[in-house]
Amino acid sequence: MSLNLDSRQRAMLEEMRVKVWAPVTQPAAALEAPVAMAAPSESVAPRESAAVRAAARPEAAAMALQPRASGVQTMDWAALQQAVAGCRACALCTGRRHTVFGMGGLRAPVADQPPLADWLIVGEAPGEQEDLSGQPFVGPAGQLLDNMLKAMGLDRRRETATGDGRAAQGTYIANVLKCRPPSNRNPEGEEVAQCLPFLQRQIELLQPKIILAMGRFAAQALLHDSVPDAHSLPLGKLRGQVHRYRGIPVVVTYHPAYLLRALGDKAKAWADLCLAMQVRNGAE
Ligand code: SF4
Repeated sequence: MSLNLDSRQRAMLEEMRVKVWAPVTQPAAALEAPVAMAAPSESVAPRESAAVRAAARPEAAAMALQPRASGVQTMDWAALQQAVAGCRACALCTGRRHTVFGMGGLRAPVADQPPLADWLIVGEAPGEQEDLSGQPFVGPAGQLLDNMLKAMGLDRRRETATGDGRAAQGTYIANVLKCRPPSNRNPEGEEVAQCLPFLQRQIELLQPKIILAMGRFAAQALLHDSVPDAHSLPLGKLRGQVHRYRGIPVVVTYHPAYLLRALGDKAKAWADLCLAMQVRNGAE
């Protein structure tokens, strides 16, 4: 029996080092971007970086790539949104339809004030549907995330009353990368390096009480400074403990796109969510 996996699900399975058999297909998008997601990495020629691919089209690169806006670390929420919307600091800008800044919180941003959010959910990068809509976590993975949040008593679209007299909790969702990698391939180091300051500034402004890092790339981006070997550890080694990002507790769990196929790991993900809720409740 073959698994009918889409490219993102394949990417997440590869990310999690889960090997599956599937018939080789050539999606149309893959014709535009030569990075083959489903091919075993041992058997393909070294991948071109996004910058190299952009450089192969010098007129597009010259038009498209510009240094990241200066002063990100002091921007207010509105300026940060504008900077992301107009960003052309890496080659991902050449193929995007929309940047995906994030969504959620107890209130819409007021002027330069960020939304209020106790919880910050950090994913990897926009996929095809996120690129089309400009919103994070839409489609089946987004529905699963919403169900996971609902099971925790959270909702990204409105404030969540706890029912026990405690204050409502807001939930904000963002990704490490704000633009979609072609064919939903894994983020490259240079792309993360260019884009991460935006997420870091979002965190500074949101000041969440807890961060849930979904997937290996989100965990690596957030734990780079606090876990020296985060880049070489599989996600399973980062789960089950409470990390810190600049003093904010971080719990690592599986990406919902991975869980859509790895049903057996849903119980582990639930254990991660329970740990996060314990931490959050203890932090009040
Ligand atoms: S991925 Fe990030 S750094 Fe690259 S163009 Fe988009 S917003 Fe800019």
